[in-house]
Amino acid sequence: MANLLVTGGAGFIGGNFVHYWNARHPDDHITVLDALTYAGNRSTIKGAPHADLIEGDIRDQELVERLLRERSISKIVHFAAESHVDRSITGPDAFIDTNILGTNSLLKAARSVWLDGDGRDHRFHHISTDEVYGSLGADDPAFSEKTPYAPNSPYSASKASSDHLVRAYHHTYGLEVTTSNCSNNYGPFQYPEKLIPLFLLNALTGKPLPIYGDGMNVRDWLHVEDHCRGIEACLSLGTAGETYNIGGGAELPNMEVIDTICREVDLAFEHIDGLADRYPAAPPANGKKSEILKTFVTDRAGHDMRYAIDDTKARAELSYKAERTFDEGLRQTLRWYLENEDWWRPLVAL
Ligand code: NAD
Repeated sequence: MANLLVTGGAGFIGGNFVHYWNARHPDDHITVLDALTYAGNRSTIKGAPHADLIEGDIRDQELVERLLRERSISKIVHFAAESHVDRSITGPDAFIDTNILGTNSLLKAARSVWLDGDGRDHRFHHISTDEVYGSLGADDPAFSEKTPYAPNSPYSASKASSDHLVRAYHHTYGLEVTTSNCSNNYGPFQYPEKLIPLFLLNALTGKPLPIYGDGMNVRDWLHVEDHCRGIEACLSLGTAGETYNIGGGAELPNMEVIDTICREVDLAFEHIDGLADRYPAAPPANGKKSEILKTFVTDRAGHDMRYAIDDTKARAELSYKAERTFDEGLRQTLRWYLENEDWWRPLVAL
């Protein structure tokens, strides 16, 4: 039995991780620490049987120290972050505050309780992104753990900075840390500002599908449940001080992702009764294809061309392998949004 602190556990990946861990480790207890920003949602973890939510900020070092002590917490899984690149372009300060200062504060609390205090066995697992490695050309090899950092957006620069702090706390103080750098996640409970839920819900509600540039930017898509398995493997088999790349094995240009979304939405209207009544503004409710909603918009400033993950190390050392194909994962995700309208409707102006 272990007690975990999951920061950002009311967000997309953190929330999925809480459900994943509860199902597989029912003897463990999870304390979720989340500031409930626009991206956090209590209802994401409502009903998780072995978790409770503390509304608070990772920058509150005193609160974190108290939680670690009073709840005998031996593992921190750190998801909390400002996570949307577009928001970092219009307002970088929140990214510096939460992603850099927040991670530093959390590390200080962990050091104070775990190293200066009772010296208990512990692990600090930090969730990072492949965006810290910068952008690849079409023929470049995929990012490995040895690829030099070259972040291009305020978001990725803030994540790179937090990765370096985590590494430094291991080398300087001996904190037992691991870091995972993952590719683009998708799946249930994702806030509808990110590509896949935004496009799924816009297609259902008959709104334009805004495509940046020529739509040929490439990302490696990772189903969130595969990501959770990768994090679990880092926690159980990862070596302190190491970093692991977690990929989805589904490198696709955005346009192919968008075409798959349109196709799956059209198919859903063919096969699921009542969708045309529920979503009368959707093109297939009116005998048209979802693709008519595709709209090209001005490209994101500094838009990275291609990300691709080489997860050979995680495969070899952690027996990690993504299990879901993109088509399967996307279909499951669409089904989840169709079945969980109560979760997303308040987030979307219909
Ligand atoms: P998210 O934006 O959905 O959730 C972030 C959560 O953190 C929210 O619940 C929010 O309320 C909370 N939070 C923000 N600031 C906080 C603070 N100061 N104190 C406490 N809680 C705070 O993010 P996500 O997509 O679930 O991403 C989780 C982690 O994974 C992030 O660290 C992100 O950088 C990383 N990541 C995400 C992706 C992706 O595709 N979503 C890809 C690579 C890495």
